[in-house]
Amino acid sequence: MEIITEGHSKIIYAKESPDKILVYFKDTATAFHNIKRAKIVGKGLYVNQISAILFQYLTDAGIRNHFIKLADDQSMECLKTDVLPLRVIVRNFAAGSLSSRFGIKEETPLVEPIYEMTYKSEDLDNPFMNEHIAVALGFVTYNEMTTISDIAHKANTALSQVFESCDIRLIDFKLEFGRLPGGELIIADEISPDTCRLVDIKTGRHLDKDRFRHDMGDIIEAYNTVLIRLKQWKNLI
Ligand code: 5GP
Repeated sequence: MEIITEGHSKIIYAKESPDKILVYFKDTATAFHNIKRAKIVGKGLYVNQISAILFQYLTDAGIRNHFIKLADDQSMECLKTDVLPLRVIVRNFAAGSLSSRFGIKEETPLVEPIYEMTYKSEDLDNPFMNEHIAVALGFVTYNEMTTISDIAHKANTALSQVFESCDIRLIDFKLEFGRLPGGELIIADEISPDTCRLVDIKTGRHLDKDRFRHDMGDIIEAYNTVLIRLKQWKNLI
């Protein structure tokens, strides 16, 4: 299969049908702009399966995203989109870069969710941007920014509810958006413990990539916990 693009954690393959892609999740973990890197056997499977459950749930809730179906253990078939060069970060509790920038204790609840944007460029250290910059640089229109904010807000509400049902707190997460050939903006990329901060409500344990970032223990065991709880939740609904 022809490779369209290969990143640190994914390979995107072309499909026979030009409106579809195959997303393959690698068994690699990277952090701090690829400075920290490791092969972790099984990680691709967990990221794939967890993303599939969450994407399907968003679809069922009317929140459009690129997921079509699982292709195999480590890959999924998705709609082909033109992915925007920006990331939307949604925060419900202080953590990570917000905590370090503002000197706020990790996991402090926020009065309102924060919606931030960064420009996707590792070379430039993923700088902050806002809607005016995104419009001025020609990435989106103001109307599209309104759509993105609306989708991010709905996704936050939906995902926070699912994770809470699994006794997991959704601290923060990252979304990427893609444009379909007709112009519609939908969620792309992945939604997994690689892109979300997830904390076990009962034990306070991180069940996400912070375990790898900060040497806090095995990530496979944590990702497996997330997958098992999501599967249990799915059987209940
Ligand atoms: P922070 O700004 O604290 O580093 O990240 C906030 C949230 O967005 C975290 O859940 C983090 O995993 C996610 N996030 C932000 N940027 C990236 C990125 O470049 N890659 C991944 N995998 N996640 C990101």
